[in-house]
Amino acid sequence: MYYHGSDFDKEQFKQELRQVLTSQLAVVEQKATSRDWYQALGKVLSQTTTSLLLQSESNNESSDTRKVNYFSLEFLIGRLTGNNLINLGIYDQVQEALKDIGLSLSDLLEEENDPALGNGGLGRLAACFMDSLASQAYPAVGYGLHYEYGLFRQSFHHGRQQEAPDTWKDTEGYPWERQRVELTQQVGFWGHVEEYKDTENELRKRWVPALEVEGVAWDMPVVGYQNETTLPLRLWECKTSNPFDLTRFNDGDFVGAQYPALEASNITKVLYPNDNHEQGKALRLMQQYFLCACSVGDLLRRHLALGRSLSSLPDFETVQLNDTHPVIAIPELMRILMDEHGLEWDSAWDICSRTFAYTNHTLLPEALETWSEGLMGNLLPRHMQIIFDINHELMVSVQKKWPGDISKMSKLSIIEEGDYRRIRMANLAVVASYAVNGVAAMHSELVKRDLFPEFDTLYPGKLTNVTNGVTPRRWIKFCNPALANLITEKLGDGWIRDLNEIEGLKAYADDKAFQDAFMAVKKANKQKLADWVKDKLDIELNTDAIFDVQIKRLHEYKRQHLNLLHILSLYHRLLNEPDFDIHPRVFIFAAKAAPGYALAKDIIYAINRVAETVNNDARLKDKLKVVFLPDYRVSLAELIIPAADVSEQISTAGKEASGTGNMKLAMNGALTIGTMDGANVEIREEVGDDNIFIFGLKVDEVIALKEKGYDSFIYYESEPLLQACLNMLQDDTFTPEKPGELISVVRNLLDYGDPYLALADFASYVDAQMALNDAYGDQTSWARKAILNTALNAKFSSDRSIRDYANNIWKLETQK
Ligand SMILES: *Cc1c(COP(=O)(O)O)cnc(C)c1O
Repeated sequence: MYYHGSDFDKEQFKQELRQVLTSQLAVVEQKATSRDWYQALGKVLSQTTTSLLLQSESNNESSDTRKVNYFSLEFLIGRLTGNNLINLGIYDQVQEALKDIGLSLSDLLEEENDPALGNGGLGRLAACFMDSLASQAYPAVGYGLHYEYGLFRQSFHHGRQQEAPDTWKDTEGYPWERQRVELTQQVGFWGHVEEYKDTENELRKRWVPALEVEGVAWDMPVVGYQNETTLPLRLWECKTSNPFDLTRFNDGDFVGAQYPALEASNITKVLYPNDNHEQGKALRLMQQYFLCACSVGDLLRRHLALGRSLSSLPDFETVQLNDTHPVIAIPELMRILMDEHGLEWDSAWDICSRTFAYTNHTLLPEALETWSEGLMGNLLPRHMQIIFDINHELMVSVQKKWPGDISKMSKLSIIEEGDYRRIRMANLAVVASYAVNGVAAMHSELVKRDLFPEFDTLYPGKLTNVTNGVTPRRWIKFCNPALANLITEKLGDGWIRDLNEIEGLKAYADDKAFQDAFMAVKKANKQKLADWVKDKLDIELNTDAIFDVQIKRLHEYKRQHLNLLHILSLYHRLLNEPDFDIHPRVFIFAAKAAPGYALAKDIIYAINRVAETVNNDARLKDKLKVVFLPDYRVSLAELIIPAADVSEQISTAGKEASGTGNMKLAMNGALTIGTMDGANVEIREEVGDDNIFIFGLKVDEVIALKEKGYDSFIYYESEPLLQACLNMLQDDTFTPEKPGELISVVRNLLDYGDPYLALADFASYVDAQMALNDAYGDQTSWARKAILNTALNAKFSSDRSIRDYANNIWKLETQK
């Protein structure tokens, strides 16, 4: 049966649900658990989404418009059931039907595991983009990897992070996805390159891989918001079809022959758990190539099946590369065009350089990918040759532009020279793409000014900006239904499709009744979070307190340790300054640290130890609470964000490319305390100075201070409050049994030079926090500010981001 919008037939739905429960899950109704019902619900509704998917697929085949292919190693999609119900337009109807059977929809939704096929912002962005592509009926396919284990699950053991594998598919499988065996692709690795003469006596090259694996497609349906469009998110799983390397096996090298197969079978086992940090492992490059080979193969299959010529490829297909992770797709397309289809270099390059566009996500040097020539040359020998050939052409054009300028050549070269040569994937991406974008206005300016100034001169206009966004379907309508209803009462429901309409709330910012209703919704959301915290962590939270939230990956540049220093300053002052008083505040953290990132894990431990002491210190009379919620993931964000009064966006200026957590929180009525970094700059522009708390060094001040020689000890010695805070971390205030146990955080800030300038921004941060505390004291004025944050952040809908890409980069038309 087909369930969609107004066609919904409640009785038929209930009947089918019961039938699936018994006939497919083999459970009798009386004994069915919430989990069984959730599975049955998914199975019933996924029949609809699968047929919608196939319908869109055949519509697209007959269409002659261009399509975007979004290539990403990560899609942090979160749970699908609730969102799909909303986008199918049957949320309320299903809720009613379940109520008839005595079931609560929200209980069933809690049974779904989050498919955590991404690390953080980059992967979540890809997921929001798929929602906005589908909701605006753009022709698109998302291409990613079907990891067997997503990002690890986090728990705390005596305050320290523990990691466990994320078995998101469980034994029953994931109800929304479908395997598409007919789309299977073959992918090679290792081996050598042969030269041969073709029938026209031309010298040609071909790659003879030593190992072949299979890529099996799984399609996840991305349902557009009540518009009949459903797009495939196509995730590739690696199967080893050929477990032995036959040549080596025949040579008698038994162990060696099995080694590559053992590695290959692991290709899509796990997601690398690093955010904004590259590890340079061979298996990671294998994952990247595996994704690109399957996806380029699949899009060429679609293109050629319609009888279209290779030279028309850029007219019908464009590929967006989400960071440098899938950039190996560029030499892969070149290889196929030349070696498999016999095109000459110039024709292949003409096609290639009009097909790809690249999004840069970071300026952090440790996150810019390079691969050693040795690894690339062994794993992908033909691609290595093509990269050298692309670089040769690049060097010719650099010579022409700047004759005799060796330093320009070495700076722009795709090959980094040294004892061991390395391949700079970002340079390859910029050279071969027709457009390159940063992800927020300031970030894109820094890409042009500091990262790629020469490329900006060499390719005028290629470097541009598309500011990130988030989908209002998930990040307002689904996660904050009470706020959504309040908005709809005033404005109608058009804002869900066109977030610009939400600006209409501005008119109610001073309306007392609306302020009360808005703050009542916030309070109820705080209560819901408090209940969860009580249930899971047995900590009581006062919902009259300010809920102050920092939720994001744990990273030095994001400066959770600066937040911690501010908490320590409040603790110190509440205990030592008789006249010091604040409005009660609950500090909420949630963050995963990469398992190999020792300092990040130490910061988690320090926050947990401080929390333990502070939460149990009766002298504070409940003025301060600190909670670190374990296992940060999309579904936890959906619980925390609607409950936030304050959004901590406190990265060192110039380090956070955009941020998207900042946007989700602001839309839900949280006030930002933040630096002039990433999209905070644009949020400030939208909401105005009165409705945001900005502090800290600006990006050029950061650069100047670093150049002058930054000495964090100066701040330690000259600021008594800061000194008191750091001293508490060094003695046994929080670790009575083990003095000095938290010293690594202090060492980083003092002996190791405080690379992210936390101490330089401390005083300014503390001042901004005091201003925020005072502002909260005037509840009427705070309500106005919170309402204006919801009203004035429409720019940060991912619908707008996607329209920017579609109009300025991809040149797409919508299907409707
Ligand atoms: C939005 C989101 C992020 C990104 O948060 P930032 O604050 O922008 O770093 C990371 N993880 C999850 C689960 C998210 O929903």
